[in-house]
Amino acid sequence: LEPAYQFMLRVRAAGGVVTPEQWLMMDEVAHKYANGTIRLTTRQSFQLHGVLKWDLKNTIRAVNDALLSTLAACGDVNRNVMCNPNPFQSEIHAEVYHWASKVSDHLDPRTRAYHELWLDGEKIIDSRDNEEQEPIYGPVYLPRKFKIGIAVPPSNDVDVFSQDLGFIAIVEEGQLKGFNISVGGGMGMSHGDSKTYPQVSKVIGFCTPEQLIDVAEKTVTIQRDYGDRAVRKHARFKYTIDDRGLDWFVQELTARLGWSLETARPFHFEDNGDRYGWVKGSNGKWHFNLFVQNGRVKDEDSYLLMTGLKEIAKIHTGDFRLTPNQNIIISNVSPNKKKNIENLIRQYGLTDGQHYSALRRSSMACVSFPTCGLAMAESERYLPTLLDKIDPMLKEVGLEEESIVIRMTGCPNGCARPMLAEIAFIGKGPGKYNMYLGGGHTGNRLNKLYKENIGESEILGSLKPMLAQYASDRFTNEHFGDFVIRAGHIRETFDGQDFHAQ
Ligand code: SF4
Repeated sequence: LEPAYQFMLRVRAAGGVVTPEQWLMMDEVAHKYANGTIRLTTRQSFQLHGVLKWDLKNTIRAVNDALLSTLAACGDVNRNVMCNPNPFQSEIHAEVYHWASKVSDHLDPRTRAYHELWLDGEKIIDSRDNEEQEPIYGPVYLPRKFKIGIAVPPSNDVDVFSQDLGFIAIVEEGQLKGFNISVGGGMGMSHGDSKTYPQVSKVIGFCTPEQLIDVAEKTVTIQRDYGDRAVRKHARFKYTIDDRGLDWFVQELTARLGWSLETARPFHFEDNGDRYGWVKGSNGKWHFNLFVQNGRVKDEDSYLLMTGLKEIAKIHTGDFRLTPNQNIIISNVSPNKKKNIENLIRQYGLTDGQHYSALRRSSMACVSFPTCGLAMAESERYLPTLLDKIDPMLKEVGLEEESIVIRMTGCPNGCARPMLAEIAFIGKGPGKYNMYLGGGHTGNRLNKLYKENIGESEILGSLKPMLAQYASDRFTNEHFGDFVIRAGHIRETFDGQDFHAQ
């Protein structure tokens, strides 16, 4: 007899786009092999929790039958390529998504081992050496995971500055001209180790769409060759760049490309959140962004979210898009189907009640307890309760419609990108959090530690007067993250290397 070991399965969908058939398959797999829920993640992927060891193979096979995959959803390779699911500019999104998929396919590991292990692939005796089998990754893959995201301004929903490699779509006169390239972002750090820190990526130039894959591949190979393989905590690409300098990186990239990047072009971000409700795309189709609290799709007594989405998938002929904020867009709804989908949204009460305060719509929590092995404090199961207590404070001072980006994680790995939030909590121990303030509203600036190891009463006690002051003293359109710096509550963080400096 062996214990009933359970696993988390991460399922990739480049750019977070899935068909209704794939959604129905995920729903079925979640009920059959997992804990009956689906978790949408901050990287536009799915997580299934509670998959028992003896069901792993069947689960992975079912996922692959739905033309989704768990390959490279974990490990020291390129992860799910994120892409803005912008339904407002449908043609541009389709084009950007096309390039995101191409980058994703190009950087997929070529190993057959995955298929042999999980999909009953035929055992291949391969006479080629490892380098031939993995032309990009080579025999030992990357020093750490690698993350790529593509933003389409004015939305920075992918938090492009948190990515190892970011692309910012440049659209001029309605045409996709190319991408600005940013390098060296990343969230993870360790408590008490100031050599580890979150970092925002820096924009280094511009390339055309046709040059995108070359830039991505060469960047990955630079990290493969220069990333730290001795100290794992120091192995992320951000440290490679910070240690050697941005000029070194640009030189190395230029040498590998054999051509130079153009000068970066102007761009402007307005926020890093989602816009909710119905919008009509430029292709005449409709898109409905549904808020999913912390990405957890499940049925509760009074809120049948999972069943509602399943019923929608049964009649939906467009697609679903997982957003980087862990929500879901019912996308490309034809005008004649809109009424039916609206009826299902209403029938299942998917937009009802307390799920929709402005603060909650701008909130994000990682999974944490009970399924994440790195968790130090509650996150997904606690943030909603904390918001229940902050919401009335905002109402009292007339800020209930103010979108303040608030994020929580159970550890400093930073899966919900808390270091970019205007207000953030990172778990230290049961019921205790480090509180951070001053992130940029567009995901452009890191926050800074405000108070260490505090519990709920101190969190609420700190926020109440600050929110009241913000309500009375803020400039027009001044965001909370900017205000707390101007008001002297926290020092501005200019760069990750200055994150821990008080
Ligand atoms: Fe787990 Fe930490 Fe990631 Fe939260 S941030 S899901 S606790 S690794």
